[in-house]
Amino acid sequence: MFITRFAPSPTGLLHLGHAFSAMLAHDMARAAGGTFLLRIDDLDQGRCRPEWEARIFYDLAWLGLDWPEPVLRQSTRLPRYRAALQSLWERGLLYPCTCTRADIRAAASAPQEGAPLHGPDGLIYPGTCRPAAPPTGTMPMGSALRLDMGRTLETLDNPLSFKEQDALITLGDLTGTIGDIVLARRDMGASYHLSVVLDDADQKITHVIRGEDLLAATSIHVLLQHLLGLPTPAYHHHRLIRDERGRRLAKRDDARAIATYRAEGATPQSIRAMLGL
Ligand code: GLU
Repeated sequence: MFITRFAPSPTGLLHLGHAFSAMLAHDMARAAGGTFLLRIDDLDQGRCRPEWEARIFYDLAWLGLDWPEPVLRQSTRLPRYRAALQSLWERGLLYPCTCTRADIRAAASAPQEGAPLHGPDGLIYPGTCRPAAPPTGTMPMGSALRLDMGRTLETLDNPLSFKEQDALITLGDLTGTIGDIVLARRDMGASYHLSVVLDDADQKITHVIRGEDLLAATSIHVLLQHLLGLPTPAYHHHRLIRDERGRRLAKRDDARAIATYRAEGATPQSIRAMLGL
């Protein structure tokens, strides 16, 4: 069984990096006689737009990809995400956090803290709002919720590991490298890490194929899978497509947009060749 997915956020035009990721996943699924799913990561409703989503469908179909309909949209899954948060809350593993980014910057750079440490989500949270004992009572709606990493690791068998292509990667001490990550953002009801893990499990994804910029996030995802009793898929983190100055492409790089290449006369075949596929 081989089920993989491409999960873009409709916040801008897809660029060559997305084309590479989507075509690689599609090719691998096809070679394995498996399934390629398209999923729309539109949790951040403040930034997602239906126009961008329509252009994602158009660009991917133009590249020659196909996928079963209907596609899953994260915006329809908030009750599922809330239920998972509720179970973690009841296990005493979450706490509300009211810190702003500026608060975290200030606390993390206080002289007694040493050099600020960075994790996959930016600065490692210095623990300002972390309670000494797990909070009791009703889980607050509308506030950010963090995972108490120290307490979480005590509840799990260590060490955790996952399969990256053919290698087994063991997770180290996640309190030092990742810290208390946000599982519910105040404005969104969940976070990328929580939603992606639940979506992958519910869609029975067996292989996650995505850029190597997400390798550090995979440690978080594997941890959450263990915590929530979900299977861990096999991971394949592919090389990133960079511009001539070596920078990773971003959605703002309209010059690298698939639509721009198409307007200039590129074909799906020439894009494949450009990407070394
Ligand atoms: N929406 C995420 C992104 O575009 C998906 C990442 C993933 O494949 O897990 O970065």
